[in-house]
Amino acid sequence: MRDILAAGRRSYSFEFFPPKSDAGERALWNAIRRIEALSPTFVSVTYGAGGSSRDRTVAVTERIATETTLRPVAHLTAVGHSVQELRNIIGQYADAGIGDVLALRGDPPGDPRGPWVPSPQGLTYAEELVSLVRRCGDFSVGVAAFPERHPRSPDWESDIRHFVAKCRAGADYAITQMFFHADDYLRLRDRVVAAGCDIPIIPEIMPATDFRQIKRFAELSNARFPEALARRLEGARDDTGAAHRIGVDHATEMARTLLDEGAPGLHYITLNKSTAAQEIHLNLGLRPDGHLPAVTAPAGGDG
Ligand code: FAD
Repeated sequence: MRDILAAGRRSYSFEFFPPKSDAGERALWNAIRRIEALSPTFVSVTYGAGGSSRDRTVAVTERIATETTLRPVAHLTAVGHSVQELRNIIGQYADAGIGDVLALRGDPPGDPRGPWVPSPQGLTYAEELVSLVRRCGDFSVGVAAFPERHPRSPDWESDIRHFVAKCRAGADYAITQMFFHADDYLRLRDRVVAAGCDIPIIPEIMPATDFRQIKRFAELSNARFPEALARRLEGARDDTGAAHRIGVDHATEMARTLLDEGAPGLHYITLNKSTAAQEIHLNLGLRPDGHLPAVTAPAGGDG
């Protein structure tokens, strides 16, 4: 990822979560195979809150590395791990040929808004995990960014200061939390640049095709949901086809604005289904170099 972004190439990626059942595993692999046909820059699998879901994250990420043509970026959080355990997982990723890690602090298990208590011999902030991953080998490292500020940050000044510190600890790029107003992303980027940091920040795209589900996600992540979009989705609550089209159209429009404004790529949430994310990506009609096609004047115009 470091080399791709340093060369000025845009990155298009798709995020999955670890499946909970055999049926979920089959659905995930169907989605991964469909996404593979789009030749994305990378795919990633979120790191579970604990126990067996974490083993599934590691297993699916390793299988992507060994059985597909895709580049996996491995999510890793500091939750519930000692430094030694984190080293072991990083080593496992390296053994599977994975060279890309998304280094995250994570949230307290149970109540994500509850107090953060570091594990014995563990880490407190993502910045420390970034340094650890870099010390463990030649990894390209990504970090999280928050267009509406991290919910625990008391103000923008400290939010940006800590974000820049984690970038300077060795991050190559950042991926944002979901958001629904392009301006929030642009303001975050301006703040980071004003703080003297030019790290590529890849916007996360969450297709809002299911009002109830998105409202829950938005509340959890603190994202402001556009009222007009909420009204349209509520109006289509009994028509899943219409709701799907509304969500895909809104996300396509926002993605186009972000690329027009110079975003270094897009990171799509798939919820292991792929269809909406795939449609948005195809709607953009990107050129082979990842840029939007130039707008040409209609033939026969008066200019
Ligand atoms: P940090 O960068 O450590 O920041 C957490 C808070 O601490 C912020 O308020 C920050 O300003 C503050 N802070 C940082 N450093 C300091 C310091 N030195 N002193 C004082 N305060 C400080 N979670 C999962 O469990 N699994 C996943 O796979 C996962 N994937 C994600 C992918 C993306 C793209 C994003 C955006 C988030 C993801 N998350 C995931 C959620 C993430 O773990 C949470 O949002 C978490 O609350 C913050 O993680 P962070 O890495 O940004 O933490």
